[in-house]
Amino acid sequence: MKNYDYDLFVLGAGSGGVRASRVASSYGAKVGICEEDKVGGTCVIRGCIPKKLLVYGAHYSDEVEDSIAYGWDIDIKSFNWETLLKNKDNEIDRLNNIYKKILSNNNVELFEGRGFFIDKHTLQIGDKKITANKILIATGGIPYLPRINGVERVITSNEAFHLKKLPKKIVINGGGYIAVEFASIFNGLGSDVTIVYRGEQILKGFDSGVRGFLANEIKKKGIKIETSKEIVSIEKSGPDNIVKISDGGKISADTVMFATGRVPNTSNLGLENIDVEVDKKGAVIVDRNHRTSVSNIYAIGDVTNIINLTPVALNEGICFADSVFGQKDRIMDYSAIPTAVFSLPNVATVGLTEAEARYKFKSIEIYESNFKGLKHTLTGRNELTFMKIVVNSESKKILGFHMVGSEAGEIIQGLAVSLKIGVTKDQLDSVLGVHPSSAEEFVTMRTKVS
Ligand code: NDP
Repeated sequence: MKNYDYDLFVLGAGSGGVRASRVASSYGAKVGICEEDKVGGTCVIRGCIPKKLLVYGAHYSDEVEDSIAYGWDIDIKSFNWETLLKNKDNEIDRLNNIYKKILSNNNVELFEGRGFFIDKHTLQIGDKKITANKILIATGGIPYLPRINGVERVITSNEAFHLKKLPKKIVINGGGYIAVEFASIFNGLGSDVTIVYRGEQILKGFDSGVRGFLANEIKKKGIKIETSKEIVSIEKSGPDNIVKISDGGKISADTVMFATGRVPNTSNLGLENIDVEVDKKGAVIVDRNHRTSVSNIYAIGDVTNIINLTPVALNEGICFADSVFGQKDRIMDYSAIPTAVFSLPNVATVGLTEAEARYKFKSIEIYESNFKGLKHTLTGRNELTFMKIVVNSESKKILGFHMVGSEAGEIIQGLAVSLKIGVTKDQLDSVLGVHPSSAEEFVTMRTKVS
C-alpha cells in the first residue's frame, strides 16, 4: 500500500471535524486537520455559543424589570454593549484554546490555513503539501446573501457579533432561526427591531401553533414583523440606510441584517480537481456512510446540507470515525432530532409537526395548552407559555412535542428521550409532575383539541 503522511486528514476544525478527528485518532489513526479561522467552527466561534451568551445578556432587561414585583429596588444605570462583547470574546478565546488542546491531547496535528485539493490524496495548505489516505470535508456553511441593490451595506450574523455599537434601529431580513434569535437579542438590549419576512408566518417548517404563538409573544415585546414582504433595495441616507420594501414602504435604520439562510462552504477547496459531486447549492453529496462520489473522500456537517445543527454534525463525525477507523458499523439516525430557537421566549420542538403527522398518519390527536407561568402572577408580565403534543390515535404513540416558553430547550431535551423510545400518551399521563413547574403541564394535558 502507498505511504501517506496521514491516515485521515480533516478539512475544517468545527464541531464535526474536531469530533471525527479525535475519535479516529483514538482508534490509532494518524490524523491531521486544517482550519483557516479560529478552532471551534461556526457553533463555537460565530454561532450557537456567542449567540446564547448574547441571549442571556438580552434577557436581563426583563429580569430586572420583573424583580421589582419581588421587592427588589435595583438601580440600573445603563447597558454597556462593549462590556458584553468583550466578555463574550474572552469566553470564545478560552473555548478556542480548549479546542486546540483537545486536538493536541488527542495527537491530531493542526495546520492553519484553508485546505485545497490537488488530487484525491493530496492537499495544499498554505505553502505545505500533505498527503492522506482518507480525507474528510467538514468545512461547514457560510451566510447566503441574495443579490439586491445595496446588499453591500448589510451585515450577517458574522458581523453582528462584533458591531462597534448596539444598533438603535435594526431591520432584519428573514424569518428563520437566526433572524428570530437576533431580533430577540437586539430587542432585549434596547434596539428598535423590525423583521421583514417574505413568507406568511415566521419559522417556516415549525409547527403552525408554535409559529403564530411566538410571533404574538415577540410582537408584545415590541418587535415589528412585516410578513409577505421582501426587501428590494437598501440605500444610504446620511449615517442611516433606507430599506425599500416590496409593498412600496420604506424603513430607515442604522443597521440592516440579513439572516437569509446559509450555504455550504465548498468554493475554493479545489473540489473540481477531484470530481467530488455537489448539488446545485454546492453541498457535497454523500451516501449513508458519509462517503462522497470519490471513494476515499467523506463529508459531514453543514457542508452536506442535510440537517444543519451542531449535534447532528457531532454525531455524523462519530458515526464516520467509528465505521471507518473503529470497525463499528454506525449509521446516523436522523429521526426525532430535538431543536430549539433561542428567541425570547424560547421555542423548542422534537418529532413531527401537526401538519407532518396529518400527512403521514390516518388519524391523530392534538393536545394543547397555553398559560401564564407562576412567576408572572406577581410581575404582571403578559408573557404566555404554549405547549402542544401530537399523538397517533391508533397506536397512541407520541409523534411530537412543541413548546414556546421559558427554558423550552431544557424541557424538550428530556421529552426527546421519551419520544425516541416510543412513549405513548397513556405512559406520559402516568408520569407525575414536578410541582410547581411549567414542565408538569406536559404530563397533565388531558383534553383533546377538537
Ligand atoms: P433559515 O433557513 O432558518 O432561514 C432563512 C430565512 O431566510 C428563511 O426565513 C427564508 O425564507 C429567508 N430567505 C432565504 N432566501 C431569501 C431571499 N432571497 N430573500 C428573502 N428571504 C430569504 O436560515 P438561518 O440563516 O436563520 O440559519 C441557518 C441554519 O443554521 C438554520 O436553518 C439552522 O439549521 C442553523 N441554526 C440553528 C440554530 C439553533 O439550533 N438554535 C441557530 C441558528 C442557526 P423562507 O422561510 O421563505 O425559505
